[in-house]
Amino acid sequence: DTNSPAPSQAHRPSISFEFFPPKTEEMEQNLWGVINRLAPLAPDFVSVTYGAGGSTRERTHSTIKRILDETRLVPAAHLTCVDATRADVDEVVDRYHEIGVRHIVALRGDPSGGIGTSYQAHPQGYQSSADLVSAIRSRHPEMEVTVSAYPEKHPESASLDADIDALKAKVDAGATRAITQFFFDNDLYFRYLDRVRAAGIAIPIVPGILPVQNFKLAKNFATRAGATVPDWLAEKFEGLDDDADTRRLVAATVAAGQVQKLAKHGVEHFHFYTMNRADLVFAISHILGIRPNGTQKAA
Ligand code: FAD
Repeated sequence: DTNSPAPSQAHRPSISFEFFPPKTEEMEQNLWGVINRLAPLAPDFVSVTYGAGGSTRERTHSTIKRILDETRLVPAAHLTCVDATRADVDEVVDRYHEIGVRHIVALRGDPSGGIGTSYQAHPQGYQSSADLVSAIRSRHPEMEVTVSAYPEKHPESASLDADIDALKAKVDAGATRAITQFFFDNDLYFRYLDRVRAAGIAIPIVPGILPVQNFKLAKNFATRAGATVPDWLAEKFEGLDDDADTRRLVAATVAAGQVQKLAKHGVEHFHFYTMNRADLVFAISHILGIRPNGTQKAA
């Protein structure tokens, strides 16, 4: 399947990229190298995450601001409501609105006791992600609000049906798009999509793609996120712990195979968890038929 031709420009999928806010000067320089390399691919938007419990509030803001100031990219700011008062969250939203941000990725956030502990909403805070969505939409109706979706259900969720009900509540509150937790088995996504559509949810459910740069790390993420790591994937990376070059080649093949199959079955939007690295994402986008601005227009 990885040998099939790139989809024609007419069917060129749209893409978005996710970054995390850098902690150090060196990480910032790295991120800007990544942004400059990926920007010519003309993503629909680029998003910047919000550290657990709002720990990167200022860094997320300054990264978003720099994207606005120095690029023509459209930024989307992640925001969580865990451990924050409504007034604090509103202030963050209003500051974004003031500098020209028109897209928020609205999330509840992990429980402050860590993943696996029970979630307690802040007494003066938004009680759920749906509450947060509706607050953003009522303060700034022109703002786009993206939410999360979980093809394998959120670890705290009693069932996939309960999870889809939670997604429905977010859509009813005004969410305009959902991005999924990453998954490696496309069938999980398609089965989920069927159930979401059957529940009357019509917004785009954009697959979140995690190119596996580091298998051990990805496996850790997956365990915490409740995402399955198929045996075939583990086997592909077997014995490569000390061979970064081969790992990268394998990673590109795996992710390219995944997105091509999704595209072949009609998926038109892809969100990449870049982990602030450009090469794999650039290559996979290329395989999807995406070219830097100029040539794409010429085609
Ligand atoms: P929610 O929509 O709040 O749902 C979580 C689960 O709780 C539901 O599946 C459901 O079982 C239950 N639930 C909630 N509301 C209801 C309801 N009304 N009815 C029934 N059940 C309900 N975390 C960060 O800290 N910063 C980020 O920047 C960040 N970005 C993310 C981006 C994406 C695309 C994804 C998929 C996740 C991201 N997360 C981020 C992780 C997220 O914060 C955690 O997964 C968190 O535990 C849940 O928040 P949520 O908004 O995703 O889920």
